[in-house]
Amino acid sequence: MAHRFELASDNTAGMAPEAWRALEEANAGVEASYGEDKWTRRVCDLVRELFETDCEVFIVFNGTAANGLALAQLCRPFHSVVCHEHSHIEMDECGGPEFLSGGSKLLPVPGANGKLNLDNMEATLLKQRELHSPKPRVISVTQSTELGTVYTRDELGVLAEFARARSLFFHMDGARFANAIASLGCAPKEITWQLGLDVLCFGGTKNGTSGGELVVFFQKELAQEFDYRAKQAGQLASKMRFLAAPWAALLRDGAWLRNAQQANESAAYLMAKLRENANFEPAFAREANAIFLRMPEQLVRQLHARGWHFYKFLEPDIYRLMCSWAVQRSTLDAFVGDVKALQEV
Ligand SMILES: *Cc1c(COP(=O)(O)O)cnc(C)c1O
Repeated sequence: MAHRFELASDNTAGMAPEAWRALEEANAGVEASYGEDKWTRRVCDLVRELFETDCEVFIVFNGTAANGLALAQLCRPFHSVVCHEHSHIEMDECGGPEFLSGGSKLLPVPGANGKLNLDNMEATLLKQRELHSPKPRVISVTQSTELGTVYTRDELGVLAEFARARSLFFHMDGARFANAIASLGCAPKEITWQLGLDVLCFGGTKNGTSGGELVVFFQKELAQEFDYRAKQAGQLASKMRFLAAPWAALLRDGAWLRNAQQANESAAYLMAKLRENANFEPAFAREANAIFLRMPEQLVRQLHARGWHFYKFLEPDIYRLMCSWAVQRSTLDAFVGDVKALQEV
């Protein structure tokens, strides 16, 4: 049986060709270390260009470190972070934000479609008892969300306003920020600093690098001594150029956006085919590169037996199919074909 990892996650794909070539380029000759190299400078400049603003940019190895260190930078140990109950920082980072901040508590909030909403945030904040509960300090959103939806600009604006009114910082886990931009078709500044976002963790791994996520501070003073924080956490790459060069290649000519568009289109195609051929409806709106389906356990078992790897995301029966920039139409067709064949048995 062939193992098929294409729909398990967007990090099962390889590196985008531009990123791979850039690695080879960066490997020619000798360069300055610890982020003093020209590739790292180039990434910082390209990010400032992309966001059309002056900002501080750091490269760390992965998204867990980016989120944890960014939140630690905004919090003291007695602070807390409002986030969605299904957020990566709450569910998938092994307490990284709490650990790296020295104890800042996450306050998970429920909300339809993986999104924070005002009523539920308000209810959570009301439960915090002054002095006795950790002091709310940050609102963290994920864009696109863990459930494959995308906050609109207006929705983010409302959250930003809520944060501003309460003197809370605003953080965005953008592991799939590119997919959100591809989905919304807006300029990156429109859903970040223009709304008052303080820090963005901008993901590259799922977009075509082999690793390396950016921490972007839109208020430069918030970045003070972040370099020390990252170094202490083991997140300062000595050969930083190998994280930076692929990023520069993705940013240089828009490959980051094309990759995300490609991934989103693949998910749209897969959802349409599953709807048409197998009567599936999405459990949440398909707005980025993931689809979520309620699937009978027997079908899932049989698909697994045919080699398809994918994960149950929510109990009891909601499964995630994730499309990367690299997934082929033929793969999507093969998956739909298997679903159809198994349904007919
Ligand atoms: C993939 C992902 C991350 C980063 O995870 P790492 O494995 O630490 O790189 C962060 N947030 C979300 C929502 C993700 O999907």
